Amino acid sequence: MEIRKIDSYKGVGPKKKALFHKMGINTGIDLIYHFPKEYRDMRRPVNIGDINPYIEKPVLIKAKVISCSGGVRAGRRKTIKALVSDKTSKITLIFFNASYLQNILRKNSEHYFFGRVKMSYGELEMIQPQIISSKDFRGEIVPVYAAPKGIGQKDIENINRETLQEGIEEALPDVLVSSNNFLGLNEALYNMHFPKDRESFMESKRRLIYQDLFFLELAFSEMKSEALDGILIDQSPKEFIDKLDFDLTDSQKKSLNEILSDMSSGKRMNRLLQGDVGSGKTVVAAAALFTVASSGLQGAMIAPTEILAKQHYKTLKPIFDSFDIEIELLVGSMPVKEKKRVLNEIKSGAAKIVLGTHAVVQDSVIFKNLALVITDEQHRFGVNQRLKLSQKGEMPHILVMTATPIPRTLGIIFYGDLDMSIIDKLPEGRKAIISKVITTNERRKLYNSLLDEVNKGRQGYIVAPLISETESMEDVKSVEVLKEEIDNLYKGKEITTAILHGAMTSEEKDAVMDSFIKGDIDIIIGTVVIEVGINVPNATFMVVENAERFGLAQLHQLRGRIGRGSEQSYCYFVSDTKGEISKKRLEIMTKSTDGFYIAEKDLEMRGPGEIFGLRQHGSLDEKLKLAIRHIDILQKVKEDIKNYSKDIEKFDFSVSKSYIDTFSTFNL
Ligand code: ADP
Ligand code: MG
Repeated sequence: MEIRKIDSYKGVGPKKKALFHKMGINTGIDLIYHFPKEYRDMRRPVNIGDINPYIEKPVLIKAKVISCSGGVRAGRRKTIKALVSDKTSKITLIFFNASYLQNILRKNSEHYFFGRVKMSYGELEMIQPQIISSKDFRGEIVPVYAAPKGIGQKDIENINRETLQEGIEEALPDVLVSSNNFLGLNEALYNMHFPKDRESFMESKRRLIYQDLFFLELAFSEMKSEALDGILIDQSPKEFIDKLDFDLTDSQKKSLNEILSDMSSGKRMNRLLQGDVGSGKTVVAAAALFTVASSGLQGAMIAPTEILAKQHYKTLKPIFDSFDIEIELLVGSMPVKEKKRVLNEIKSGAAKIVLGTHAVVQDSVIFKNLALVITDEQHRFGVNQRLKLSQKGEMPHILVMTATPIPRTLGIIFYGDLDMSIIDKLPEGRKAIISKVITTNERRKLYNSLLDEVNKGRQGYIVAPLISETESMEDVKSVEVLKEEIDNLYKGKEITTAILHGAMTSEEKDAVMDSFIKGDIDIIIGTVVIEVGINVPNATFMVVENAERFGLAQLHQLRGRIGRGSEQSYCYFVSDTKGEISKKRLEIMTKSTDGFYIAEKDLEMRGPGEIFGLRQHGSLDEKLKLAIRHIDILQKVKEDIKNYSKDIEKFDFSVSKSYIDTFSTFNL
């Protein structure tokens, strides 16, 4: 089966293509794994007389128009009111700014209406229902997709129907499909988008979760595959550590010792280094790289974003230079000439330490003697990238670092026997961040008070869920609008703000980061791109707009950008949320800065959080959440991998592997 680019489908021109790309969707297969965010049960209409207005679920009715009056002004909005009835009762429909509906809602015409019902002065009312003509009515469960303005539900539906019609090859070994009584992949995917009923939907969902977790586990089991012989590294990092202008914490020392003893054991290291944001993982990684370089071998450290890779380079270059150890940066956006030079240095073995993004794991990069590969913030990587990585070099030692705290019991199930080191204490001398939840009414006061911070020479971040209004949902702040608003507010004051988000080119992002580090920019207004790893100790304040839209773990990561120096830091979560759970979740953020605690609470109460666009397709973070919610399936996967190892080994995964990165996860 051919994987078709998204713009090879009818109706997808450059504009829609760009919008799809923004959603992380490049192919028809990507879109097939972009499951509906909800389903509308439009199989049969209910009697109006049976509607319970106190149940929040939208309902479908079939009714005749008795009367339709238009043009009533309510505030700034023109409303249309239609009274409709079926044989059991009557209900009033209300529409805003839709005068054209008067032509459709003619007296005695019959339609289907789908919407939420409420009581108003003792009468039933349906607000802004969807209207379906009798001829268009299909009597089906209708999928609803998360999509930006400019991509219609019908667009998605049509492309998916075409992809499913062409057929999708089975991705799991037969024995797993049959022994688990699973539906075939094509049928299961069909049911995810166009379910006939609840049973077929649940059955399909289970199969797809299994599949998702299966590939995850497979990747892990390939990675750990017994204790293999490893390159011997037995140099000491003492000189390196002596040069630092601080002492390592006990946790850092312990973790570093575990790493060094792995690498000098004669076996290949496979270690996970967990440490909360700001706990100082980088310097531990650097010390390990130092021992590799002093052994005359090469080490690489890979970050999920260019900003982060460059930051690592900036911090580590001076210290390695002082030891005459060649350190190089390799990222996608480098000029061709510079890239060529770096590739040559890597190939000849002159470059002892290579820092970069996933560009480092591309096939065109050849190492002379790669002995250690470190992935920083590894939860941000797709599984596929990790697979490639462990194939680089002869048998490099592997160290993965993450700030996503995984509760211990779960870690064992999830990572199996991957060795684990934990940095559980922050360096001393840091002041606890003061965190507060505020409402939008208090925003102005807050922004005025930030002036004082800036006047003291401090810097900070303002985070918004969206980049621009075009992606907008109601009442959600975007970076572009915020920038305007804030610049207006600070007009005449000496404050420099700049925006930073994922849709900017990497030069643009660099320029902003550079000026921020230099102190030329006071406030960065950005999206979650600032979430991972950035380390600017002079940044002491952060405002998160629409904080209820973010997951707790994500808020924790964001907040980790401040409180890194010796000055007092402040974090403000702006939210008008009315939801009980959302409120409680934000409260947790004000009570604790312990990543483990927050992660556990996050699991306990999943709020609305994580809006469309913030989700990372196929990232380990997402997989982890999936695994946590479906531990029973994960356990079955592990058993099956053990019991059917022979069949699994024989299976040709080339088709499945091309899907791995696109496997989406469920928020159902
Ligand atoms: P993370 O674990 O989030 O990657 P970093 O490695 O970026 O954290 O470290 C955060 C900051 O703490 C850096 O500025 C680093 O220089 C500093 N740091 C690391 N270890 C220590 C230590 N033992 N004592 C004091 N400061 C430290
Ligand atoms: Mg880090």
